Amino acid sequence: MTAKQNARALLCALLFVGELLLAGSLSSQGMRGTIRKESFGKAASGEQIDLYTLSNEKGLEVAITNFGATVVVLKVPDRTGKAADVVLGFDALEGYENGTAYFGATVGRYGNRIGGGKFSIDGRTYTLPKNNGDNTLHGGIVGFDKKVWKAREIASKGGESLEFSYLSADGEEGFPGNLSVKVVFALPADRNELKIDYTATTDKDTVLNLTNHSYFNLAGEGKGDILDHVLTLHAKQFTPVDKTLIPTGELRDVAGTPMDFTRATAIGKRINENNEQLVFGKGYDHNWVIASEGRKGLTLAAEAYDPKSGRTLEVLTTEPGVQFYSGNFLDGSKGKANKAYGQRAAFCLETQHFPDSPNHPNFPSTLLKAHSVFRSQTVFRFSTK
Ligand code: BGC
Repeated sequence: MTAKQNARALLCALLFVGELLLAGSLSSQGMRGTIRKESFGKAASGEQIDLYTLSNEKGLEVAITNFGATVVVLKVPDRTGKAADVVLGFDALEGYENGTAYFGATVGRYGNRIGGGKFSIDGRTYTLPKNNGDNTLHGGIVGFDKKVWKAREIASKGGESLEFSYLSADGEEGFPGNLSVKVVFALPADRNELKIDYTATTDKDTVLNLTNHSYFNLAGEGKGDILDHVLTLHAKQFTPVDKTLIPTGELRDVAGTPMDFTRATAIGKRINENNEQLVFGKGYDHNWVIASEGRKGLTLAAEAYDPKSGRTLEVLTTEPGVQFYSGNFLDGSKGKANKAYGQRAAFCLETQHFPDSPNHPNFPSTLLKAHSVFRSQTVFRFSTK
């Protein structure tokens, strides 16, 4: 090394140590939110489950468990500054272990449906367990939502993050390849948003479609239905489905149909129209094709607004699609504080590749090649109007 290189290496080391010290002092002064870790009980498997609560000074609080890398609580201020928990869920681990609605969970390996529980890669057919009629839904019988993830707290001066990792063994739920998945949830110190970063690698070619399955009610969970919420979807097309909710392969224009949310419209305005797609979904349960207008990277996909509280959610994503699901299958089962979650008590905006992509070569590909890296980002951004 030359003297110049030595000096540069020394400077880098000093900067690195400085950064560490700064992060430490910010933490001790409580200038960034503080992660609280508490026990969320023991899983039936005997594994210890924890609940991590992140908060910032702008009033956002999020609690996430390593069971299913699941968002359990998301407290957001309304236009008067009063916070409410805007996601459906349960008070205790048991609810998540027994639940079938995927409240707040990280969904994988394949979010939404794979038709006939089958797909092929390079001429080899893979058969998956069917858990939704003739189809495979949300990764199969035991999806990522029911797995215990390894958690790591990451401190940085910009906010607090939690990294969850999981190794899905070759053949798990019928999918090929040892798949290593990481999901990082970040709460910036100075903005009311929850940023989710997904990365994955595999040792064999496989298919992958990861999403978060939070059920939102911007008035607060358990406070009635979401039919008055006003929704915008930045999408000119959607993928119509058959009666088992498998895409036909068509990309259909939304214009002139109840699927058109290009202008802000109340969710309930057209939901009961006698439209074949709404009948098949028992309401909205479809994938919209996000209009990215040639942009690469994070795109604003959707905005939802609750006129009463003023709470507004913007969803930004690098994914090409978003499943807008209007909670049609919620059946009044009890959630947090014994509240009944009836039909349409919440909506989901699941950023994703399109359902059943492995069987539709015209859809953006969900193939993850061996030894390549999958990356995806979604941001849930909150404000008030
Ligand atoms: C699906 C719905 C399903 C819900 C809960 C959504 O992603 O599109 O059909 O009922 O998840 O499993």
